[in-house]
Amino acid sequence: MQKEFRFEPELIRLAELVRLRGAELFVVGGRVRNSLLSLPLSDTDITSALRPESVQELCAEAGLKTVPKGIAYGMVEIHTGHKKYEHTTFRSDTYAAGGAHRPESVAFSDSPYTDAFRRDFTVNALYASVLTGDIIDPTGGLDDLEARLIRTTTGDPELILRDDGLRIMRLCRFAAELGFDIEPGTFEAAKKCAPLLADISAERVRDELVKILMADTKYGLPAEESVLRGLRLLDATGALDVILPELAECRGVEQSPKFHKYPVLEHIFHTTAMSKPELDLRLACLLHDAAKPVMLERNGNMHGHDAEGELIAREVLKRLRFDNAAVEESAWLVRHHMFDLDGRAKDSTLKRRFARWGRARTLALADIRDADFRGSVGEYIEVRSSQRWRSVFAGMEAAHTPFSESELACTGQDIMEWLQLPPSPEIGRIKAALLAHCAVRPQDNDPARLRRLAQDAAGRRER
Ligand code: ATP
Ligand code: MG
Repeated sequence: MQKEFRFEPELIRLAELVRLRGAELFVVGGRVRNSLLSLPLSDTDITSALRPESVQELCAEAGLKTVPKGIAYGMVEIHTGHKKYEHTTFRSDTYAAGGAHRPESVAFSDSPYTDAFRRDFTVNALYASVLTGDIIDPTGGLDDLEARLIRTTTGDPELILRDDGLRIMRLCRFAAELGFDIEPGTFEAAKKCAPLLADISAERVRDELVKILMADTKYGLPAEESVLRGLRLLDATGALDVILPELAECRGVEQSPKFHKYPVLEHIFHTTAMSKPELDLRLACLLHDAAKPVMLERNGNMHGHDAEGELIAREVLKRLRFDNAAVEESAWLVRHHMFDLDGRAKDSTLKRRFARWGRARTLALADIRDADFRGSVGEYIEVRSSQRWRSVFAGMEAAHTPFSESELACTGQDIMEWLQLPPSPEIGRIKAALLAHCAVRPQDNDPARLRRLAQDAAGRRER
């Protein structure tokens, strides 16, 4: 795995300034790993023996902006033109008991040979000297890159995983993104340490979960080899029981073999991996059947798992501190994922629903339907109901059908004037009736006809 490292002029200049102060600057982490794998690079983490104050001084003298990112931890962000580097002084950390990932004490050190052992995985602990291009590999990361293995930096993997519970999710995430295997000792330790994830903040758990759900988009691996694997690893390590106990309940829950190849949890995993790589869709797929065990226990069957699932989805996503938009979109999709399951709804029913839901939700629900059916059989089949929905939808678009009340050719104000009515919920009801009408008869979406329709609707209500 030989590779010429060639760094950009900004970084070389920085390394020369660091050398003037008697230290050597290294690139470390994802950029070294990915360069060696010929994968795209994201951020650049740099490191040296220089203490954070020296880094700040050196940058100030050279006219470079710095942003302290956690001076106690040795982190300084350096801005050179439009590039950004995160410099962390070589460290050796000691952690308090529990998995909360706040080093109890941070000792700066002078060598990558100590720094490497506070990092998580060997492939993340490779150091490339910016000036010479030489690689320093204190933990055997080059061999593991070759073998495509994720292994903790220390011989005793528990030492690493215990100090920061999140590392168990990072383990699953790197395995998923890179398509690497997990070294058996590391995997066994992950199973032991998984309960420590309970000490990790919801935000950090969320961020790693998102990366696993979107793992196919990182380096372009097929979703079966990345997303599906990542989810299965969360399950196999026991991380799932801690971060998503509602899903752990779905493990091994059998369902009708007439429609389903897999028990509930495996079905959920396949569905998620087989959905389009959009976060709201993947979250909805992840939670769409989460209520099946609850319903089964409550009623002896799974009916109503969509309505109950909406509640679970909302609770889980809020707990994981997803933003409101993600919570609402995903919960809505869970709520409606059973709509027209058999594909026998009338065209007019579909049209009224679609107009009320709007374009984005209609199409997203069709995507969920595809994923759900595909996740039931484990194949990328064509799905009849969603195909029909899309063709009905396309027809509506071609006919310039309004997809919201704001696309009607009249406003609430118009309706109030036409009917000589004060503002009241009645106006809203009339608007909804006009939209439902125009969903099926889009040619009636003009002011004169809407006026007559509004008058009819109001008259009908009076009678
Ligand atoms: P990518 O940026 O592609 O996700 P990366 O390896 O650069 O991958 P970062 O999260 O950017 O990952 O972290 C940079 C480096 O810092 C890692 O490679 C690793 O050496 C170290 N690191 C980051 N987070 C942790 C952690 N929780 N425990 C131990 N080491 C960590
Ligand atoms: Mg990085």
